[in-house]
Amino acid sequence: MDNVTIGNAVGRNIDASARNRASVAEAVHMAPSALSRSISGERTFKSVELAWIADLLGLSIDELVGRKTLPFMAAARAKGSADAHVDEELSGIARTLFERRSGLAQLGVGDAPSFPRIPNNATPEQLADLIVQHIRQFVGDGVLADVDDLASAIETAFGIDVWVRDLPEGIDGYCIHATDDQVYGIIASTRTSPQRTRFTIAHELAHLVCGDNTLNQPHVIRDGSDDPIERRAHTIASGILMPRDKMLQPHSWTAEKIAEQAYKYRVAPSAFAARVKAGIYQEQLPTLAGAWPDALKGDATFAVWKKRNSAERKPKRLIHDLAVAYADKKSTVRPFALVAGFDDLDEARDAARAEAATAA
Ligand SMILES: [Zn+2]
Repeated sequence: MDNVTIGNAVGRNIDASARNRASVAEAVHMAPSALSRSISGERTFKSVELAWIADLLGLSIDELVGRKTLPFMAAARAKGSADAHVDEELSGIARTLFERRSGLAQLGVGDAPSFPRIPNNATPEQLADLIVQHIRQFVGDGVLADVDDLASAIETAFGIDVWVRDLPEGIDGYCIHATDDQVYGIIASTRTSPQRTRFTIAHELAHLVCGDNTLNQPHVIRDGSDDPIERRAHTIASGILMPRDKMLQPHSWTAEKIAEQAYKYRVAPSAFAARVKAGIYQEQLPTLAGAWPDALKGDATFAVWKKRNSAERKPKRLIHDLAVAYADKKSTVRPFALVAGFDDLDEARDAARAEAATAA
């Protein structure tokens, strides 16, 4: 977008608000002359200035600059008639991730994303192996049994922001990527079972590593779609959650043995059976709840695991970096407060300072 278009839109939005230009300039630490030259298109707004003005006016940056198209590439996992790419609520969440992370990148806060080098013609199994190896360099080779374990490992290893939260019905997951802005994000729904949520996160990770973009192909996002992009993401997700080198050699699988392994990897027994190509009828297999060992009590029951893994899991890495930007006086506290969920800005300031003091 050019300076004049952006400047016009910003000027229009300020004039439509209850504030005058002088008070906006003061609130966002801009010289009044710089603001008016930017509105007239003579000067380029810095992205942090746009972020501050947007926060002040209660708008997204896209709304502020009048941008209609999505500023990132995306892929989705959905079912039924849900069209993730045009869903307003989901777009709003995705834009929040994009704007906060790209703003931090502009400020030089936070580590840059890091992806393994992907050889040409790698098979889905090889891609899954590379992803698994990349994660293990950071967190070891244990099973990432909780949604939070998996999400945190992905944030640490790849620099992808992961937000698990309530999403509109029918949309299981979404991913966004904008390489130039150093933005990679995964959004997954808490409305599905935790085992499905974990699969969705792994599926979206696969899309990001492959650089998939289905914005212009809404037909391929349907779950169970025969589209090669979706089939590949599905195979890779399976290989991430059930790494090839940990799979037992083929032997006579029984429903019992499959249930035991499904519990270990926190996947549906039908998913484990498919992974090891066990010739067992679906009807003979339990659900993950049924596969859960009976002897486990207290905090280790399926019900407790399910409850813990059905809660919102905020984008921790993003929240940490927003807190650092505030503590380093590079940003106001508003971006942190918005994502971390604070209505009271004084509380948000205290929380941001405490968060910034912890290790990333
Ligand atoms: Zn997908």
